Amino acid sequence: MSSFPLLFDLGTAKPTTRDVANTVKAGGSHALTEAERRADQARYQEVTCRSALNRVKGMPFEWTLNPYRGCTHGCHYCYARRYHVQFELNADDEFASVILVKKNFVEVLTRELARPSWHGEYIAVGTATDCYQPIEGHYKLTRRSIEALLRARNPMGLVTKGPMVVRDRDLLAALAQITTCTVYMSVPTVDEDAWRTLEPGTAHPLQRLRAVRELVDAGINTGVLMNPIVPGFSSSRDKLERTIKAIADHGARFCGCNVMFLEDGTRTHFMTFLAREFPSLVPRYEKLYQRKYAPDDYRKQIKGMIRVLQERYGLQPRESDHDQPIAATPEPVQVGFAW
Ligand code: SF4
Repeated sequence: MSSFPLLFDLGTAKPTTRDVANTVKAGGSHALTEAERRADQARYQEVTCRSALNRVKGMPFEWTLNPYRGCTHGCHYCYARRYHVQFELNADDEFASVILVKKNFVEVLTRELARPSWHGEYIAVGTATDCYQPIEGHYKLTRRSIEALLRARNPMGLVTKGPMVVRDRDLLAALAQITTCTVYMSVPTVDEDAWRTLEPGTAHPLQRLRAVRELVDAGINTGVLMNPIVPGFSSSRDKLERTIKAIADHGARFCGCNVMFLEDGTRTHFMTFLAREFPSLVPRYEKLYQRKYAPDDYRKQIKGMIRVLQERYGLQPRESDHDQPIAATPEPVQVGFAW
């Protein structure tokens, strides 16, 4: 198949994400002839977006911002893998190696924030990509988006695994002075084996926790999300306790957690990864994940144990965790499946 000059013969105009989807549908990701390859071996395709603010349903927030699509951190459990499938990109390697960069993102966001119909609602940043993955150092779309939010005095919360967030503490601290500004650092575990296995492209967990310390010291409400707890990899009592202690030691203001869920492209990717790397775990996973979520009892045991450990180390649960009371267990115990 010949290349696809049509999309890229438009002077400096970038294709839209829909154009990219059509191109990939016709010729595969190799048809993205303009995608630039950088030192990390990922290919970066600049695109034009029509909107920056994205409305979502069924979440604790209504609006999200994601300046990139795909993520070179490549966590095997990442629920955003399934979004890549919408563009005919696969949820496996291409999720972590073909990154769409929304080149005009900040200009579009600035216009949207200025609309009379916008009433300064809370915005969740980085819900379907990591807005501080390495390429942010080059494009600075996240930094410039926070600048736009600061100018608009708009409340926000940001989730990331990227210690690069510390670079933007000046803006975050300024926003925190005038409205809600929360950073959720994702550190599912401090266990080195689990980290290397499950999150191959991320910074070391302790580096992320040091970033938490720096942000808290800068006056920014910063906590840690142990999302997700992955059964058999990070769910043992010992690993949970070491992680919670490390989170407390680094001064996090709060700590939330969730057990991994699996659906669509993420399920396919994760089960393929397990079959390839840990075949002995496949039968247990097939039993535990007959549905999207692990069984209620299992999740309650994990959350109950975490609640006890949080109390032991003086950590506040994340606010929304208060909304889902789980009977506390008197002492941390090992959960079912001996995981
Ligand atoms: S850092 Fe976040 S967005 Fe990136 S792969 Fe991991 S879970 Fe997904």
